[in-house]
Amino acid sequence: MSISVAIIGAGFAGIGTAIRLQDKGITDFVIFERDTRVGGTWRDNTYPGAACDIPSRLYSYSFAPNPDWSHTYSGSDEILAYIDSMVESSGVASHIRFEHTVTGLRYDEETGEWTITFDSGREPVRARSVVVASGPLANASFPDIRGIEEYAGHKIHSARWDHDYDFTDKKVAVVGTGASAVQIVPELVKTAKSVKVFQRTPGWVLPRVNLSITESTKERYRKTPLTQRLARSAWFWGHESVALGVVWNTPLTRVVEAVSKLHLRSQVSDPWLRRQLTPDFAAGCKRLLMTSDYYPALQKDNCKLVTWPIAQLSTNGIRTVEGIEHQADVIVFATGFEVSKAGTPIPITGIDGRDLAAEWSKGAYAYRSVAVSGYPNLYFTFGPNSGPGHSSALVYMEAQIDYITDAISLVTENAWKSLEVRSDAQASYNEDIQAKLTGTTWNSGCQSWYLTEDGFNATMFPGFATQYVNQLRQVDLQDFRISVRQKALEESVAG
Ligand code: NAP
Repeated sequence: MSISVAIIGAGFAGIGTAIRLQDKGITDFVIFERDTRVGGTWRDNTYPGAACDIPSRLYSYSFAPNPDWSHTYSGSDEILAYIDSMVESSGVASHIRFEHTVTGLRYDEETGEWTITFDSGREPVRARSVVVASGPLANASFPDIRGIEEYAGHKIHSARWDHDYDFTDKKVAVVGTGASAVQIVPELVKTAKSVKVFQRTPGWVLPRVNLSITESTKERYRKTPLTQRLARSAWFWGHESVALGVVWNTPLTRVVEAVSKLHLRSQVSDPWLRRQLTPDFAAGCKRLLMTSDYYPALQKDNCKLVTWPIAQLSTNGIRTVEGIEHQADVIVFATGFEVSKAGTPIPITGIDGRDLAAEWSKGAYAYRSVAVSGYPNLYFTFGPNSGPGHSSALVYMEAQIDYITDAISLVTENAWKSLEVRSDAQASYNEDIQAKLTGTTWNSGCQSWYLTEDGFNATMFPGFATQYVNQLRQVDLQDFRISVRQKALEESVAG
């Protein structure tokens, strides 16, 4: 089979790319999805309390506004329903091939096409352009803790929730205190006999006020879409202003820290617990935690914060370094994801047999986060240095999608063989990005999933969302090398 565009992944990014391709008149595309359902991270993260800590008005596509969000911050089921509704209304469902796990991509210089291979002995597919939309937070990560195999109780990862497990009256241990854990713990304390939360590093917590949206407001959004656009705009600029204290390590970062400490003081009266929950790194360095429920949950009679480091797992539970064994019927691992900051999620072979995983072995880099020199007609959503620390991932994703689909349209309309970013354009872009990262909170000295083990930041974009979006407004062809197809060349010479 030979197609114009292959999209890998049917999450937010893959579905958005398909819709925008269709809008631009390109219908010869296929989405390859390893699972049996669309939704990506929102299909996988169904733990109790799962929600987005970015307001729904902004955590959605501007080309698919939803007047019906029930709350300021919607739950994962509502976000998944939103993705489903986009699939249904756009008609891209017929383009999705489920249970197609892509195992590799290889570029053919002769034809300017990519060969996509799959597991289970499926026939390879050829595509002129490929969009890797497989998402950075797709592979759940169990920690490398001694004895994890010996533990005889039940193990659940936050991103692979076991809905058949009944937590009622169970002794629960939660490992991790990141963005997922702070949503899970307030739910678990409602039914479990006991919940012990194993904290390695406390995070900065800001309050989250989640209001329900009235029917009259929904009606207004439906009748006058401009009001919904204005609401989105207000959230956008509100988040942009926060960048000054969250992206860059500035005096405003101290203000964010002061607000967080006030929140801690207002919710936790015990000074010792407050000390245990106070971070020792700059706010924003790790992801800010947005919750008003977490501290109250920790202080419930059936909940306990454990700050002694974990030594190992035993048959019955978790042993901390001071020698205590904490018995647990179930351990919830809210320990995050295997994020490919170095290497690639799948083997990718470009011009002259170049191996992208080898080139990215010390950390990934790209041109404007979407294209890589030596790998023509290949695009990434949520590629290197595309992460926001202060705004909605969907704002960034929409900009990537529009840029990528514009580039693909150029190749299709002009019947080009390939479009490849120039190595000098890519190098100067990355020099600038890395120089700008030095002043950010992410590079200010804490350990986070944003950095490689060597401290290289291949994840975050050091700037405002406005700057990120602006750099992707148009495909600057002077930064690219264009190859025309032999046939098209002959026709134009003859013409
Ligand atoms: P995470 O931020 O990577 O947090 C993992 C937690 O597990 C951290 O507290 C970490 O401690 C701890 N941990 C890891 N290995 C450990 C070990 N061996 N022993 C003890 N503790 C260990 O993962 P996450 O909470 O799943 O969030 C991941 C990302 O998903 C977030 O950054 C965010 O981008 C996204 N997310 C978003 C939302 C949302 O509302 N938008 C919600 C959930 C998740 P250390 O801090 O010490 O490493």
